[in-house]
Amino acid sequence: MAATKDIPSSILIIGSGVFGLSTAHALAQRDAFKSSKITLLERLDFPAPDAASIDTSRIIRPDYADGAYAALMAEAHPHWRESGLCLTQDTNADGGDDDAHLYLVRALENVKTRLGLKLGRREEGGQVEPMETPEDVGRVTSCMGGECGQRGYVNWTSGWADAEAGMCHMRKLVERLDKVEFKTAEVAKLNYGKEKVESVELVGGEKLTADLVVLATGAWTPKLVDLRGIASATGQVLAYIDITQEEQDRLGSNPVVLCETNGMFIIPPRNRELKVARHGYGYANLTRIPHPERQGEMITVSLPRTKQDDPKMNIPFEGDKACREYLAKSIPDLATRPWTHTRICWYTDTPTGDWLISYHPTYSNLFVTTGGSGHAYKFLPVVGERIVDIMTGNENDDLGAELTKKWKWPEQRKKVDHVWTDDWRGGVKGMYLDEEMAKGQEGVTKSRL
Ligand SMILES: Cc1cc2nc3c(=O)[nH]c(=O)nc-3n(C[C@H](O)[C@H](O)[C@H](O)COP(=O)(O)OP(=O)(O)OC[C@H]3O[C@@H](n4cnc5c(N)ncnc54)[C@H](O)[C@@H]3O)c2cc1C
Repeated sequence: MAATKDIPSSILIIGSGVFGLSTAHALAQRDAFKSSKITLLERLDFPAPDAASIDTSRIIRPDYADGAYAALMAEAHPHWRESGLCLTQDTNADGGDDDAHLYLVRALENVKTRLGLKLGRREEGGQVEPMETPEDVGRVTSCMGGECGQRGYVNWTSGWADAEAGMCHMRKLVERLDKVEFKTAEVAKLNYGKEKVESVELVGGEKLTADLVVLATGAWTPKLVDLRGIASATGQVLAYIDITQEEQDRLGSNPVVLCETNGMFIIPPRNRELKVARHGYGYANLTRIPHPERQGEMITVSLPRTKQDDPKMNIPFEGDKACREYLAKSIPDLATRPWTHTRICWYTDTPTGDWLISYHPTYSNLFVTTGGSGHAYKFLPVVGERIVDIMTGNENDDLGAELTKKWKWPEQRKKVDHVWTDDWRGGVKGMYLDEEMAKGQEGVTKSRL
C-alpha cells in the first residue's frame, strides 16, 4: 500500500476518537474510496467516556509557537465559535518562565502573521490584545476576582468547545454519509506476519482481516504496536466543581485562562460546572505486557488506567493540590468548593509533541494515526483530510508536505522505553501514577529526570 498507494478494498479503523472518526469522515467523502468497505471499531459504546476526545470541554486555539499547527488551525478555526483565550505568564511560579515567555512571543507572532489577526483592544475592534502588566491581566479576568498572571495576551477568536458534543456531531456527519460500518468491539491484538498485519483479533477470539488497518487507538496504541521510544501514554489531571447560577452568570462568558508557566487552566463554566486542569508532563502508568509484535517477549510501556478499570479511581494528591491552588488563586470565592468529580485523562505523548501519522515502516498494510500530545482535539473538523492525504501519498500543498514530514514515523526511536515529551508543559517531569497515588499529603514531587 505504502509504495503503490493502491486503493484498498477494505479498511478497518480501530478507535473512534478524533483521529479515527475524522479519518472515517474523510475516507467516506472521497470518490477514490467509494468502492472500499470501511469499518470503524470502538472498544466501548460511542462516545467512549474515557477517550481523550470525550470531555466537557477542549481549548480551541490557533495560538501555537509552531507555525505549521497555527496554519492548520487556520483551516479548522472557522468551524468553531469564538469565546476568548487568555494566555498568561506567571513570573512568580516555579521554573519554566523563559520557555513560557518564548512560547507566548512566538504564538502571538504566528497569530498576527500567519492568521492576520488584528492587534488591539476588543472594544476598538482588536482580535488579539497584549496584556503587559498584572493589571492588564486583571482587567480581562476581573470577574474571576483573583490573580491570573503577570502578563500575556488574550485572543478573542480562540476559546473552547464542548468536546463530547463535537464528537457526537462528527459521528452524525459520518453516519449521514452511510458509508461506514460502526462496530463496538475491543481489539485484543494485531497478528503480525513478516511484512503485514495478517489479522486483527478481537477480545473473544474473532479475527478480522482488511487490506488496510488504521490504528487510531490513542493512548492505548502502545499495547497494539511497539511504540517504545516513539510515543507513550501520560495521565493528566482534571477536576470539576458545581457552581451556583449567580456564579455561572458571572463567569460563563469569561475567556479560558491558561497559564503557560505551570500549565494550569480553567475553562469557563457551562451548566453550572467549572473545570480546572493541567497541561502537564503527566503520570506514566508503567505496565508489563506481551510484546505486541514478537511472541514470547515481554515489554514495559505506559498505558491508560481509567475509571473503566477502577470506577473509584481518583487523582493523586499532587495533582489535586495543583488544581486546588490554581483555583484558589484565580477565583478565591471558589477556593474551598469541593470537587464533584475528578478524572485522569490520557495523552499520547511524543518526544516533540508532533503527532504520528504514517504507514508503519515494516508492516505495509498498517497505518498509524496517534500521538496527539494533548493538542489534537481542535483539529477535529479538518485533520481527517490531512490524514487521508498522507495515506494516499498526496501532499496536496506546502502545508501538507510540511505536516507529512512532521508526522512521519521517526527514523530513530529514543533510547528509552517511556517517552517524556520535550514539548512545552507545566508540572513536574518523571511522575509515576502508582507512586503518586500511594503518596499522602506529605509532599511535593521533585523531577527525577
Ligand atoms: C485532559 C486532556 C485535555 C486536553 N485538552 C485539549 C485541548 O484543550 N485542546 C485540544 O485541541 N486538544 C486537547 N487534548 C488532546 C486531544 O483531546 C487529543 O489529542 C485527541 O482527543 C486524541 O484523539 P485520539 O483519537 O488519538 O484518542 P482517543 O480520543 O483516546 O481515541 C482513541 C479511541 O480508541 C479506542 N480504543 C482504544 N483501544 C482500543 C482497542 N483495543 N479496540 C478498540 N478500540 C480501542 C478508545 O476507546 C478511544 O475511543 C486534551 C487531551 C486530554 C486528555
